[in-house]
Amino acid sequence: MTSAHPEPLQLPLPYPVYCRAGVRQTIGEIARLVAPSHRVAVISDSAVAPLHAAAIVAQFPADSTRLFTVPPGEQVKTRATWAELTDALLEWGAGRDTTVIAVGGGVVGDLAGFVASTFMRGLPVVQVPTTLLAMVDASVGGKTAVDTPFGKNLVGAFHNPAAVVIDPEVLNTLPEDVLRSGLAEMIKHGVIADAPYFDAVLRFADAVRDHGASAPDFAATITTLVIGSVRIKAEVVAEDTREGGLRQILNFGHTIAHAVERVLNFTLLHGDAVAIGMVAEARIAESIGLAGEGLSLAIADAVERAGLPSRLPAGVPLDDIIAATHGDKKAREGSARYALPRSIGEMEAAEGKWSVAVSDAVVKSALS
Ligand code: NAD
Repeated sequence: MTSAHPEPLQLPLPYPVYCRAGVRQTIGEIARLVAPSHRVAVISDSAVAPLHAAAIVAQFPADSTRLFTVPPGEQVKTRATWAELTDALLEWGAGRDTTVIAVGGGVVGDLAGFVASTFMRGLPVVQVPTTLLAMVDASVGGKTAVDTPFGKNLVGAFHNPAAVVIDPEVLNTLPEDVLRSGLAEMIKHGVIADAPYFDAVLRFADAVRDHGASAPDFAATITTLVIGSVRIKAEVVAEDTREGGLRQILNFGHTIAHAVERVLNFTLLHGDAVAIGMVAEARIAESIGLAGEGLSLAIADAVERAGLPSRLPAGVPLDDIIAATHGDKKAREGSARYALPRSIGEMEAAEGKWSVAVSDAVVKSALS
């Protein structure tokens, strides 16, 4: 390495993850190092592009770099947008010598990652997450996908990034509700693997709820916590790269969350749906005797301290949620499966399957 960009984190991953305030200013150099290419396609959304992507485009030669934008929001994470982006890349003349740089939240990361995984059978992608949720979760692990009318993330591919570049400074421009929603996945990481980490997130949650990115010591604390979350996720995916076993634990809260998002037509922030899902799934764990009484209350307390919802909005038909859980891709033989906690920091191994089939009646009572 020729200049002062930082060393990557020490993680059990086959690609480097950089996390430091200001590191976005060296993305040009990092990309040239990990994925040297003739052309650079920066993919972002139209809200993030002027704030952060334009400065990244400027780090590459103007005649071989182009910015492609999509409108912001989950609604664009579709096969139609994938087709538009791949057509635009072809029209521009992109070939196998192109590197994709995904600059945005989880929507852009998943969409641009899926474009990179399929375009000419695979281009390198550098993930530059700009939401807290994308930093701690979506950008690491190599999952890419688009949604379909049948459910979220049903068409996709495993495609590891060439590098992940996390600059917590970009969180300063994030709307506060979107920032808070990222805390849900951090709470999840504590529940599935690390009780002290859970406590550390909790100690910071009230400050973020009340002051957002202006909370005292925000930059230093969030950097430490993001690194903690990335480490937990990296250790899980390193053991199970294609979700055959242990990786199921990352789905804690998500079987319900995906169903809720679908029934509410993707109007809820993903992290808010995960918060509701974690509390309901902890209740399921209690009611089938896997977890002791009090676990769901502890998780409800954590999500509420982070300013996140702990229960379904009033009036949502439970039968629709139950039906939607069967559309989840983790469903097998008509029964939805759940990755369930035994306590904070420990998940049910289920003889190496790390997920448990649960009857609709139990799920319904946990939700009601
Ligand atoms: P998002 O990508 O929709 O971003 C939320 C909003 O914040 C958008 O309007 C965006 O324009 C705006 N934004 C992003 N960064 C900003 C910034 N720095 N400043 C100002 N505005 C900014 O939502 P998200 O919560 O980041 O991601 C949710 C998606 O991530 C879902 O589609 C989910 O399925 C996916 N996801 C994927 C994985 C995975 O492993 N691949 C894991 C978790 C979630």
